Amino acid sequence: MAATADVAIVGFGIAGATLAHSLIEQRARVVVFDSPDRPAVSRSAGSIASVAGLRFGVIEQWQQWWNAALSVYTEFGVIEPIACYRLVYRADEQNFWERKRHALIAEGHARPAHLPQQLTEAIELPLETIEIVRAAKVHAASLLDRLAAQLDRDGRYVRRTLSACDVEPVGQGYRVAGVECKHVVFSEGAWMADSRWFGWIPRMFARGQRIMGVLDRTLTEQPVWLSVAGKSLVVVGDRFTFGSTYDWHSLEPIVTDEATAYLSEQLARILRCGYRVTDAWTGVRPIVADLRPVVGEHPHNRGMWIFNGLGSRGLLLAPRLAQLLARRIAGEPVSLGRWDVARFAELLHAKP
Ligand SMILES: Cc1cc2nc3c(=O)[nH]c(=O)nc-3n(C[C@H](O)[C@H](O)[C@H](O)COP(=O)(O)OP(=O)(O)OC[C@H]3O[C@@H](n4cnc5c(N)ncnc54)[C@H](O)[C@@H]3O)c2cc1C
Repeated sequence: MAATADVAIVGFGIAGATLAHSLIEQRARVVVFDSPDRPAVSRSAGSIASVAGLRFGVIEQWQQWWNAALSVYTEFGVIEPIACYRLVYRADEQNFWERKRHALIAEGHARPAHLPQQLTEAIELPLETIEIVRAAKVHAASLLDRLAAQLDRDGRYVRRTLSACDVEPVGQGYRVAGVECKHVVFSEGAWMADSRWFGWIPRMFARGQRIMGVLDRTLTEQPVWLSVAGKSLVVVGDRFTFGSTYDWHSLEPIVTDEATAYLSEQLARILRCGYRVTDAWTGVRPIVADLRPVVGEHPHNRGMWIFNGLGSRGLLLAPRLAQLLARRIAGEPVSLGRWDVARFAELLHAKP
């Protein structure tokens, strides 16, 4: 294992991985610690789109988020375009579409569409079908595996769950599990709740569950993403995944029969063909109280940073935030804007 580094990163989900990648591009020496017992929720996240939510929201400065994501995921060969259709069944959603349609079509985000024939036979007829033009499938687990292998070859990837006593201030920097470094970044996802250093940041994490299974027929050879009332159904061949739930009360990443039954019932409203649920998967979204990512330097401890709060859009947000944070760590006067952890600084005094 490396004895020294410029930056130690604690947590190797999409936040830690994109940050490691940006820092390496800057020629910084990084060492990464990742827990073998805490599965990264990023491993099962799979899609990005420029339009999201019931209200057809387009994220501010979407082109910058999109370009940064495309650049990193293309470099690793982990992104592919996916046909994405919004199926509108409800009047309120149709109203939102009517209000936004002119702008969304003019800006090239969406267009009225028809479902491919083999899908119409198996899907309940919606009020409207809208194609979301900028949508992609991301194989985040492949990115994590490839970057981890690269770091591992140089003794810079350590499978270990760090505890508070593994991080001690020394001189101008930190000793992190024996590695001397100038900076330490915490990107622990939902395990931020246990953090000695950043546990004071207000959270509203949400557990999410997806189900997977088999259809009684082959619907499409290419993957298709159907977005229905805030849920997504991805079909390829005779396989599907469907989700996700939002459970704001339980933070344990445990599959529940209740969530499986709920999703199965929702799916039955969309599908006109038979299906069988074979598996389920769950994880906790790291969401901060104001629903914005949280990045930046600890208000009191110089050289100690956080990269978290990616919520339900981590794959889209992480690459650009990682670039900004890497530049900031390198000492550039880059603004972290509305995502800066400084917005919560006064809470640190309330909860020492
Ligand atoms: C069901 C579901 C579906 C989703 N689908 C999508 C999607 O399609 N598109 C999208 O963009 N987003 C999606 N999301 C959201 C996305 O998963 C998150 O925004 C993103 O993965 C968060 O990444 P992260 O790196 O912050 O956390 P994580 O991926 O959870 O990574 C945290 C890492 O930190 C490590 N760690 C924690 N504590 C320690 C410690 N003390 N020492 C060492 N290591 C530690 C863990 O082992 C883990 O590897 C989905 C979320 C859920 C729950």
